[in-house]
Amino acid sequence: FDSGEAILRRQAQRESAARTYARSLPVVPVRARGMTVEGADGRRYLDCLSGAGTLALGHNHPVVLEAVRRVLDSGAPLHVLDLATPVKDDFTTALFETLPPELADRGRIQFCGPAGTDAVEAAIKLSRIATGRSGLLAFSGAYHGMTAAALAATGDTAARATTETAAGVTRLPYPYDYRCPFGTGGEQGAELSARLTAALVDDPKGGVQHPAAMLLEPVQGEGGVIPAPDSWLRRMREITADRGIPLIADEVQSGVGRTGTFWAVERSGIVPDVMVLSKAIGGSLPLAVIVYREELDTWHPGAHAGTFRGNQLAMAAGAATIRYVARNALPARAEEVGSRMLRRLRALAGHHACVGDVRGRGLMIGVELVDTTADPDDRGTLPAAPRLAARVQQEALRRGLILELGGRHSSVVRLLPPLTITDEQAEAVLERLADAVAAAEA
Ligand code: PMP
Repeated sequence: FDSGEAILRRQAQRESAARTYARSLPVVPVRARGMTVEGADGRRYLDCLSGAGTLALGHNHPVVLEAVRRVLDSGAPLHVLDLATPVKDDFTTALFETLPPELADRGRIQFCGPAGTDAVEAAIKLSRIATGRSGLLAFSGAYHGMTAAALAATGDTAARATTETAAGVTRLPYPYDYRCPFGTGGEQGAELSARLTAALVDDPKGGVQHPAAMLLEPVQGEGGVIPAPDSWLRRMREITADRGIPLIADEVQSGVGRTGTFWAVERSGIVPDVMVLSKAIGGSLPLAVIVYREELDTWHPGAHAGTFRGNQLAMAAGAATIRYVARNALPARAEEVGSRMLRRLRALAGHHACVGDVRGRGLMIGVELVDTTADPDDRGTLPAAPRLAARVQQEALRRGLILELGGRHSSVVRLLPPLTITDEQAEAVLERLADAVAAAEA
């Protein structure tokens, strides 16, 4: 290969203006193992991006490589559309063992196109067919993907979702304590959000009666790492169940142990009607499915198609990942390391006024940066500081730490390390991040 610099220069010329990662993270990864990525320049980085949460076991985990090799060496076909194969059967069994009993015992699975957005699309379409209705309830700050219906449901993050693309979607307030739309956070803010949701759904003039579905992330990821309170999730479950509205949980990013339970919804005890799963379920290869209550399984044969719904290598890598996470109690490990990191980051916030908020669940962590030179708003919250966040990202990169930004204003530093992160690596991440914040603030 050419040198890293030459590669970056050529890509900068050829890639579209929407190329976000290659622009903000000028690293040319050539090798990777676990949490460590080696650039073409020979530098080593700790990867807290993990393919936007895809790499539950980090890069090139031996069990994942072994599972892929086994398929390659077995002579099994690599592409058979979505025909039944031993690999697919094994993946489905591994996945179903992790599901809430209601879905494991009587649920159905639909393999979707390779990306998370394909599965979101399928979930929305299934709900529309099953209910005969078309409206959609979605939340501020949500991220569901870039295809038409998923984009419509995607909230007010950046310029990606415009009002023209969001027809038929009623946007409801997500419980975001730090910038609570009701001027109050915690249980009270969550309860107000729930009451407003119920009132909007019931308002005969609101035009959203009996929508086809409510779509939510139990922990918003791209929207700035915002865990929904359990009580709020339970209220959403009640509101939708009472009105016969299917509840779709998008666990594309929060799933496979990242938030401390295998699926994030488990913590609240709710069982959604549809779960949208992707990213880590493919063990680093593209795979996306929906699982749902059998009553919803009303679509006609052929109603949902797609050439790439049965990637054998992804299913093998996914089954190996799912079993490894479950057998090694990695959700509990994510909770343990994540809580420690959150505590330390909150202490860091005590030393840096620009760290406005630290939040997360398990190893899905967000650090929201604020502009300390500006006037606070009427709730006493300082404005978001996207430029400072970008500086922290660059300073972290210089110190060998790959971080991602997110949030409604791109002012949240996001940490999504693999669940296999060691205590030493967690320590190194915290040290580098603290140094990066100090350098960016100076
Ligand atoms: N839903 C959620 C919660 C996501 O975080 C993402 C991706 N970040 C998607 C859906 C879309 O997945 P994909 O990028 O694979 O289409």
